[in-house]
Amino acid sequence: MSEKVGFIGLGIMGGGMAANLVRAGFEVTVWNRTASRMAAVTDLGASAAGSAREVAERSSVVLICVSDTPDVVAVTEGPDGILAGLAAGSVVVDHSTISPSETRRLAALAEEAGGSWLDGPVSGGSEGAELGTLSIMVGGEASDLERVRPYLEAMGKTITHTGPVGSGQMVKLVNQVLVVVNMLAASEALLLAEAGGLDLDATLSAVTGGAAGSWMLANRGPQIIARDWRPGFTVDLQQKDLRLVLEAADELGVPIPGTALVFQLYRAVQRRGLGAEGQHALVKALEHMAGVKVGEAPR
Ligand code: NAP
Repeated sequence: MSEKVGFIGLGIMGGGMAANLVRAGFEVTVWNRTASRMAAVTDLGASAAGSAREVAERSSVVLICVSDTPDVVAVTEGPDGILAGLAAGSVVVDHSTISPSETRRLAALAEEAGGSWLDGPVSGGSEGAELGTLSIMVGGEASDLERVRPYLEAMGKTITHTGPVGSGQMVKLVNQVLVVVNMLAASEALLLAEAGGLDLDATLSAVTGGAAGSWMLANRGPQIIARDWRPGFTVDLQQKDLRLVLEAADELGVPIPGTALVFQLYRAVQRRGLGAEGQHALVKALEHMAGVKVGEAPR
């Protein structure tokens, strides 16, 4: 028999994820700070709670998807937080992308309260949240993951146990290093191609299928050439993730110079008021330095 599931944070990601849980037939209680955002999911059959605490009181599996580390802390601790209402034996799964070390602290608090904690950050974007095709990277006890797997399967198609609590967040940060350094390579390559007077479409098709190819080049390269800055993932959210990456590397004493450079370049993009554009707007920082715009020369 399935358990009662709670969902806290119905933003771009959480809204789609909670809707998929309801559609899969689970009994779902939701809470969102901005109450009006609950309507889309309650219309499908979820019931609304008045606080994160109330969600925990009414559920034995509590899922979270809010913005940043302090936001997960805000919905977890305090008189109206999850821990104040968590019953012994309940499990919390945090789908937000947050700090691995803060995750371990929150997991210890959940354990003190008689419950358990899994970190389950996601990738796959808003489209994946809506379609139920997310990749979910899960840190924590394997037995807790098996217990919540039916709910995760309603929201994602690749569910990976990454190791102990905090490791899901760490894998997500590793993912983001790969994403942004690939993004920088694609941006720099296209800038050089433009400055060299090359046919950009021909250049892309020549290099995308070979050893230099990447998902970023194949998917965001054509968007850069078309100067289409619509976001799959915004500069502002990527910058939040890179801050977490740099903090984790700092805590571990590991140099990650490529990612640090991309962080500073995104800062320049943000300073120019472009934080809501897609993360491929990274090329604009390079264009500003070079006095060259990719895709603008008549071809
Ligand atoms: P979003 O649309 O901005 O939604 C954020 C949600 O968090 C909203 O429900 C918001 O409530 C809630 N929230 C924020 N601060 C809060 C606080 N202090 N107390 C209570 N609720 C709070 O963001 P999103 O795109 O869904 O992203 C959510 C998480 O998923 C982030 O950690 C993000 O990095 C991660 N993620 C996003 C994507 C993506 O493509 N968007 C992909 C992978 C992972 P209000 O409605 O009241 O503001």
